[in-house]
Amino acid sequence: MLAGKGPGRVRDEVQLGEGLEQSTLRMTMRRLTDSGGVMLTIEDVTQQRTAEASRHDFVSQATHELRTPLTNIRLYVETAQTDGEEDKELRGECLNVISRESQRLERLVSEMLSVSEIEAGSMTIRKDDVRLDQLFKSLEQDYKQNASKKNIDLRFDLPPKLPAIQGDRDKLAIVVQNLLGNAIKYTPEGGNVNVGVDLSATELNIEVRDSGIGISEEDQAHVFEKFYRANDPRLGDITGSGLGLALAYEIIRLHGGEMTVESELNEGSMFRVTLPISAEGV
Ligand code: ADP
Repeated sequence: MLAGKGPGRVRDEVQLGEGLEQSTLRMTMRRLTDSGGVMLTIEDVTQQRTAEASRHDFVSQATHELRTPLTNIRLYVETAQTDGEEDKELRGECLNVISRESQRLERLVSEMLSVSEIEAGSMTIRKDDVRLDQLFKSLEQDYKQNASKKNIDLRFDLPPKLPAIQGDRDKLAIVVQNLLGNAIKYTPEGGNVNVGVDLSATELNIEVRDSGIGISEEDQAHVFEKFYRANDPRLGDITGSGLGLALAYEIIRLHGGEMTVESELNEGSMFRVTLPISAEGV
C-alpha cells in the first residue's frame, strides 16, 4: 500500500487469545493521498461482536423453545377435533394439555421479554416499599399446593419481625418464585424444601434449600446463564426454559445484591440471595 499499489483501503479482523480472554481487533489501513503515507486504525470491537453473537444465539434458542409448546398445542387441538368429538374424557384431557402449554408459552414469552430488557440495559428497578412478611406469606400460599402434590415438606423459617425494604416488589417476587418453583420442581416426591430468611443491620439473606437432585459442579458454573439447563438425564421430562435463574440473577444484581448456589449431587441444592439494606443499597 505504501508503494501506491492495490486498493486504497483494506479492512480485516483478527482474533487474539482464547475463550473468555478472546478479543477481536478490527484493523483498517487507508492510503493518504496527500502525504503518500498510510494510516492504520486498530479498533477493539470485542464488545460488539460478543453482543451480536449473543443476540443470534438468543433468537435461535428462543425459536427452539417456542416450537415445542406450539407443536403440542397443534397436535392436541387436532386430537380434540377428531377423536375428541366422540370421547368427552379425551377432549377434556386435550384441553388440559392445551391450557398447560399456553401457560408455558405465556411464561416463556414474558421471561424472554425481561431477558431482552436486561440485555438492552432498559430494565428498570422500582423503589417500592416491599413488605417482606406479606411477600413470603403469599408465596407460601401459592406454593403450598404444588409442594403437597409431590408430598414435599415446604417450610418457611422466618424471623418474627420482618422489615419493609426498598426494592421492586414484582421483580423480587419473581426471584423468590423462581427459586422456590425450581426447588419443588427438582426435588423428588417426599423431599424437603426450606426457605430461610436472615437479617443483619446491613444485609438481608434469603436461602432456598432443597433435598432434590442437586447440580454437578460443572453445571453450577453455568446455571445463571440464559437458556442453560443442566446436562443431566435425571431432568427427564421436567420442562423448563433455562431463563428463570438468569433473570433472577440479573434482578438481584440490579438491586445491588448477589446470588450464589451451593449443591451436592443427589443431596440437594441451596440458592442464597444477599441484598444490601443500607440507605443507599436497595
Ligand atoms: P429451568 O426453566 O430449566 O428450570 P432455570 O434458569 O430456572 O431454568 O434453571 C436452570 C437450570 O438449573 C435448570 O434447568 C436445572 O438444570 C438447574 N437447577 C435450577 N434449580 C435447581 C434445583 N433447585 N435443583 C437442581 N437443579 C436446579
